Amino acid sequence: MMHQKSKYIPQRTCIACQQKTDKKDLIRLVRTDKGSIEVDMSARKPGRGAYLCPKRRCWEMALGRKRLERALRTNIDDANRETLLAYDKIFPEGDLT
Ligand SMILES: [Zn+2]
Repeated sequence: MMHQKSKYIPQRTCIACQQKTDKKDLIRLVRTDKGSIEVDMSARKPGRGAYLCPKRRCWEMALGRKRLERALRTNIDDANRETLLAYDKIFPEGDLT
């Protein structure tokens, strides 16, 4: 049943591939008050956020070319980068290319 004429679906742009996608289909990353970057699975944490597709290609592009750090205006250390890159293991194998 449609109770509203138009339902607003929030969209966000992936910082790697620049594609606009429904917010719920993207993964939010947030800059903590310590300056590190965390994956925000709840998408509700306070702080500057950036969005990425759940695709390895986007993930690696964002981390490898520092797009994520630029988007969130911070610098992360190697340990933080490794932690974030490890998240690509949760993505489907079919998205390797
Ligand atoms: Zn993307």
